[in-house]
Amino acid sequence: MTGGTTISASPQHGLTDRLARWARGLSGRSEEDQETDTQRPRSGSASSREINRRRQLYADIGDFLFAHDLDLTPINFSVALDYLTGANIGVEKAIRAVMMERGKITNGWIETLAAEQRSDEVTPDSLAAMLDKVEENLSTFTGLMHESRNSAKSYGAALQEEAKELEGRDGEPVLARLVGLTRSMVEKTRQVEGQLRENQKQTQALKSSLENARRAAEHDHLTGLPNRRAFEGVLREEVKAAQENGEMLSVAFCDIDHFKNINDTHGHDTGDRVLKFVAGLLAKASNDRCHVARHGGEEFVMLFRGKSAADTCKAVDDVREDLAGRSLVNRTNGERMERVSFSAGVANVLAFDDPRAALKAADRALYLAKEHGRNRVYLAAETD
Ligand code: GH3
Ligand code: MG
Ligand code: MG
Repeated sequence: MTGGTTISASPQHGLTDRLARWARGLSGRSEEDQETDTQRPRSGSASSREINRRRQLYADIGDFLFAHDLDLTPINFSVALDYLTGANIGVEKAIRAVMMERGKITNGWIETLAAEQRSDEVTPDSLAAMLDKVEENLSTFTGLMHESRNSAKSYGAALQEEAKELEGRDGEPVLARLVGLTRSMVEKTRQVEGQLRENQKQTQALKSSLENARRAAEHDHLTGLPNRRAFEGVLREEVKAAQENGEMLSVAFCDIDHFKNINDTHGHDTGDRVLKFVAGLLAKASNDRCHVARHGGEEFVMLFRGKSAADTCKAVDDVREDLAGRSLVNRTNGERMERVSFSAGVANVLAFDDPRAALKAADRALYLAKEHGRNRVYLAAETD
């Protein structure tokens, strides 16, 4: 199996297998024992114990989904199964952390978790496997080209031989041999073409697996924005480009105000929708000189090339004003929500020793904006 298929696999894949494995694990019998199941009659009490355990598991999954108001979707079912059976430590830990922090899990959060799990599957090993396959395909391709050139060469050489024979003789048998040679050359070409087509198909599939893997690893599933990992790459590139072209570069951290209250008052699903809405509003500013990413939680980061820090403050403040002036409606119950706003801290990236120091300064400015009443944009002082 290529790394690509692993990556595109969704968490619901193999759900039945996992349920069966779980039931086997609980019954305390090895895989071998299982395989002989059909030959050996099982004691009535053992099988009824297993049925009861399975029933209990279904009930527990149902309770879990119900308690968290989760839709009955394969992803939710699969995550509940992993959590309740302890089959996936990553899932278990993430759920425990969210339950400690906000007590409830949402459909959106599970989707994000599933997407993170998928991007986690892009391990160095799976990437290495994909690259190995690309390399193998390339070498097959080179081999095929080589082979086809060689057969063309030997066909040419054989033709010359036959042409020599042809001179001053009765050409009949030679012509028959020429026809034979041509046929075998045509056949060879057809074979090589078929192999090349197959090779091209595999390479295309690999290319799209690599693209999917890169997308999953660099995008936030909930908002569709690039994630922190992607932002760090963009920051490196933009710092280089700005320095090379003598351009300005500014960064802004935007953090939604009292977002916890929004979750607590309207529920986490509404909280997720607010996050998406704010992300969309900020993303409107994005173009090839403005990058917007979800830095984590309810915090976003924007990077502006060719804009002074003061102009960046103005641009971010326009978005702030736009959001603060809106009256959002909670789609769940149609009620108007309290105003949603964000605070921001802006810094001139190239005024600091390194980009990390500039990010810290922007973060400090954000902290001050919060301290001084929220719903405002602050510019960081240009000293480290
Ligand atoms: P402040 O104005 O100081 O920033 O207050 P705050 O409530 O926004 O900040 P705090 O850090 O106390 O709380 C942030 C909350 O955001 C806590 C966390 O549960 C919630 N949160 C983080 N990520 C998500 C998410 O993906 N969806 C939802 N619904 N909530 C999230
Ligand atoms: Mg906040
Ligand atoms: Mg925050």
